[in-house]
Amino acid sequence: MDRVRSFIKTFLLWELWQGLSVTLRSFFLPKVTLNYPEEKAPQSVRFRGLHALRRYPNGEERCIACKLCEAVCPALAITIESEVGEDGTRRTTRYDIDLFKCIYCGFCEEACPVDAIVETRIHEYHMEAAGENIMTKDKLLAIGDKFEAMISADKAADASYK
Ligand code: SF4
Ligand code: SF4
Repeated sequence: MDRVRSFIKTFLLWELWQGLSVTLRSFFLPKVTLNYPEEKAPQSVRFRGLHALRRYPNGEERCIACKLCEAVCPALAITIESEVGEDGTRRTTRYDIDLFKCIYCGFCEEACPVDAIVETRIHEYHMEAAGENIMTKDKLLAIGDKFEAMISADKAADASYK
């Protein structure tokens, strides 16, 4: 009996019609595909993208060159050199992040006692020339300056979960 049923199914292309029925049903369902980059998926305020160094509202650099971020980085992607300035504060003279080494774990941001290094929600970036993977202090500060409003808003939105 099974063999007869199998033969009839094969003769009528049963599996093919089953497959086409899935296609037909899906055809009328709402589309879930986004037309990126015109349409973008919602992002969490905790998204870990491109790094930035922040300043205080008076323009002073937040980073105090404690090197906790460098120590905690599992990818050894951060390189810091520092010196004590004339005012007695310790400041970085070099702060590099190698984006090719970085695994975007967020440990540097978690370790920072003054919220200086952060990972922004920026994820649309690329490198075209050798060496552009190194985010220098100037580049990181420039990103922080440009996106401070977004960074502080994201920090505020996430504060109650910390
Ligand atoms: S996100 Fe992680 S891997 Fe990248 S620099 Fe920070 S600590 Fe290192
Ligand atoms: S970014 Fe934060 S953790 Fe890293 S050296 Fe500066 S103050 Fe310390």
